[in-house]
Formats: sequence, structure tokens, C-alpha cells
Amino acid sequence: MSNRMPHLVRTAAAAAFVLALAAVPAGPALAFTGGNHENVTRAALSWEPATLSAMADARKGAVNADDHGGYFLIGPLHCDNADYLAPRHVEDYPRSRDEATTELLACVRTSVAHFRNAVRAADGLVDARGAVRADQSDLSTSCTWQETPGPAKCDVLEELGRSWHPVQDFYAHSNWSDRAAPGAAGIQNPPGLARTGVAPFFDVRRYSGMDDAAWTREARALVPEDLATGCYPDFDSAGVKDGDCTGRVTHNRDLNKDTAAARRSRTGDNFDRAVAGATAETIRQWNDFRAELRAAYPDHRRGERMICILTHDDPAASCP
Ligand SMILES: [Zn+2]
Repeated sequence: MSNRMPHLVRTAAAAAFVLALAAVPAGPALAFTGGNHENVTRAALSWEPATLSAMADARKGAVNADDHGGYFLIGPLHCDNADYLAPRHVEDYPRSRDEATTELLACVRTSVAHFRNAVRAADGLVDARGAVRADQSDLSTSCTWQETPGPAKCDVLEELGRSWHPVQDFYAHSNWSDRAAPGAAGIQNPPGLARTGVAPFFDVRRYSGMDDAAWTREARALVPEDLATGCYPDFDSAGVKDGDCTGRVTHNRDLNKDTAAARRSRTGDNFDRAVAGATAETIRQWNDFRAELRAAYPDHRRGERMICILTHDDPAASCP
């Protein structure tokens, strides 16, 4: 798996998406809703209001950029298509554990790539002596989330938002934290892992400092046998789109907890568990990003000032 895969896959999938657009009827956005991403993000971060809204807003926030335009149908951006059921639950499941894990790791990989980009973009927030670069640090013109260079603060927020979106989706789209409904496990009722901690294979900061082959090997070994996300009619990491997900654990019918009304959410407190997991994970990711800035930019306390800029609405005044 080369380092360049995610970009190539995204480009191919985005192009295919544009071609397919005319044939796909407009439907509701079936994903951890923008409002849920907003609630989770606001609960995790104590940032000043305008900056927090730029990150968290249900429609216009950076954390929701992956749910708009061509990004919406790229499976790894939402941790889709890592569906699997072990032989003790169903015979001859159409996907292997390895295939499912490959899709999950493609999701982790997008998060790692954007984390690295965010660390790099932060360099533009302060000058060489550690002073705030005011023109790079204010949000008076709103940011556009189009992966084109803008003021450094917009760039960092966008990269962080795109790093966190898949991680938050993982808790709504997988069985990591939920429980199955009573009765036999099967395609429409996959086992739930009922975990309460953050997932160890989302150690994005650690992976960002490793060779991709090395962290992929490490992360693969941490994936539990029964972990699954749902098949979704979007593009997987190889650019393949399964239109109907026949015979597979699906996102829409079986596994998603995107809203409290989803079928899987209605077993016990599954929805609250997804929200709690996504919130704890966002806190971990933000803490790890801050630690990385301090470690990467120690001179003149530049990393410390970057953190101040990213959390304050008027950095020129608040971060002397
Ligand atoms: Zn999503």
C-alpha cells in the first residue's frame, strides 16, 4: 500500500462520483448528522465562540466538510465498508476479516494524512520568533473548506476537521461501542463490542510519525475479530462501489447510529454510547494535536502560541 494511495483513490472516486451524479437520486444525508458532529465537537473543545463555530457548525463547520460535495460518497472518509461477520455467526460472509480491516485502515489513513497536514499548516500561524502573524490568524472572512491554501488558521482548521470527521463517524458507523439487539447475531444484528474507551487503532499522532507500512501493520493487529462498520453504497478504498450491499451488514439498515431514531440506536443506550465515544475521541485527538505542536515547534514557544491562536477569536490581542 503506497503512501500515495489515498490521494489517487480520492481523485478517482471523486471523478467517478461526478460521472455518477446524474444517475443518483438526491436522498437524505445518511451519516452521523451535521448536528451530531456539531454537538460532539462542541462538547470536546473549550474554544472561543467564532473559532469553535468555524470548526463545529452543523452545516458550515470544518468537521462537516467531508459530508459535502464529492467527499460524501468516498467511503474511507466515513469509515464505511469495513463490514464483516465471523463464521460462527454466518457461513460464507462475502467479505474477509482482512478486507474489512483494509477499509478500516483506509479510514485511519485519511485521518493520519490530515493530521500531518495540520501540523505543517500551523507553521504559518506564527513568525520565526514566535509572534502571531495577524493576517494568517483571523477569521473575519469566513474560511472555505476546499483544500486550497488560505490563511493558515483556515488551513489548520480544515485539516483538523477532515482528520476528525472520520474518527467521529467511526463511533456512529461501527459496532465498537454498541450492543446487539436481543436474539441471535446475524447480518441484520451484528454483535456489539460494547467498548467504552477510545479505539487503540486511532492513535493518529503516533502513526503520523511512523512509516505508513509500519503503523498499518501495528494497527491491523489491534482490530478485534468482530469489529464491523456497515456496507454503504459509496466508493471503497479501491474505488469500487457496491450499489446494493446484498448479503452484507449495511450501514443504513443494520448498524448506523447517525440519529437517535436509527434502528441500531434503539437498542439500549447505543446512541449515547456512540456520542460518548466520538466525544472522548475528539478530546484525545485535540490533546494529541496540541502535544504534537509543542513537540514540533519548541523554539520561542511557537507551538504554545499556535495553540493559543487556534483557540482564540482575536489572537493578535489574546496571544501576545
Ligand atoms: Zn461522514
